[in-house]
Amino acid sequence: MSEEKFTRETVLDVRRWSENLFSFTLTRPAHFRFSAGQFARIGIEVDGEKIFRAYSVVSSPFAEQLEFFSIVVPDGAFTSRLQHLKAGDNLLLEKIPFGFLTLARYQKPLPHDLWLLATGTGLAPFLSMLQDFAPWQQYQQIILAYSVRTREELAYAEEIDRIAQSFGENGANFQFLPIITRDTIAAGDAALHQRLPVLIENGLLEQHAGIPLNPETSHVMLCGNPQMVEDTRNALKARGLSMNRRGEGNIAVENYW
Ligand SMILES: Cc1cc2nc3c(=O)[nH]c(=O)nc-3n(C[C@H](O)[C@H](O)[C@H](O)COP(=O)(O)OP(=O)(O)OC[C@H]3O[C@@H](n4cnc5c(N)ncnc54)[C@H](O)[C@@H]3O)c2cc1C
Repeated sequence: MSEEKFTRETVLDVRRWSENLFSFTLTRPAHFRFSAGQFARIGIEVDGEKIFRAYSVVSSPFAEQLEFFSIVVPDGAFTSRLQHLKAGDNLLLEKIPFGFLTLARYQKPLPHDLWLLATGTGLAPFLSMLQDFAPWQQYQQIILAYSVRTREELAYAEEIDRIAQSFGENGANFQFLPIITRDTIAAGDAALHQRLPVLIENGLLEQHAGIPLNPETSHVMLCGNPQMVEDTRNALKARGLSMNRRGEGNIAVENYW
């Protein structure tokens, strides 16, 4: 990749959520504009070679810094190194953002209910969307369902409450449905424990939200684990919802691998 395609940015802060999850913030160059839901390509240099990976932006499009939420894959070429990141380090950032997991893609049906369904770090693009004004103004209901394996993997729970309080005052009604699939005894505040596609098939997700999944009123975004995305997409299709193409349809997806 030629030098002109990226800039070198400084790591400002690193926050560790668990052994295999952390977040970091970077300086944001003035030219880097993105829509909530888009991803950046971040790079590291190893023995003179550059390795880039896609990372959804967590922060609001209006924020001064860029925040990202990362997994650690123990033998992953990128994250096995990235996990040692500390404030003051440099990372490469491609100059332009990418991706179509944005609310602008929805033309029909008109915005009414927005379902944001994530596994693990797939939460990232939804955090950016929820810190933008558009969804709060356009939708009547926003449901964020966030599925993780263990309680300690439920990163950003307090931030989600704070975001809902500050943005939700005069806008959409917001519901946060955490789902903890493994250590159900320690799950505490999570009432749901099955995988997302199962919760759609058995109706529990709608029951907990008190809102139906409806081809006429639902926009559903899926992000994270490709198996979850595929199975959930199929469960939604079985309920009459359709993939969003050229602006029309209910379901928009992003696979992380
Ligand atoms: C559009 C897009 C946006 C992405 N946004 C993010 C993001 O915001 N945060 C993030 O952590 N990753 C994100 N990813 C995944 C990221 O690009 C890398 O795959 C990840 O950083 C691991 O890199 P690696 O080289 O260490 O391992 P890789 O060789 O890239 O992956 C090895 C294996 O690790 C697993 N894996 C990869 N990514 C994840 C993950 N996020 N969660 C759980 N298991 C995973 C898969 O089994 C994969 O086959 C995104 C991917 C895409 C395509």
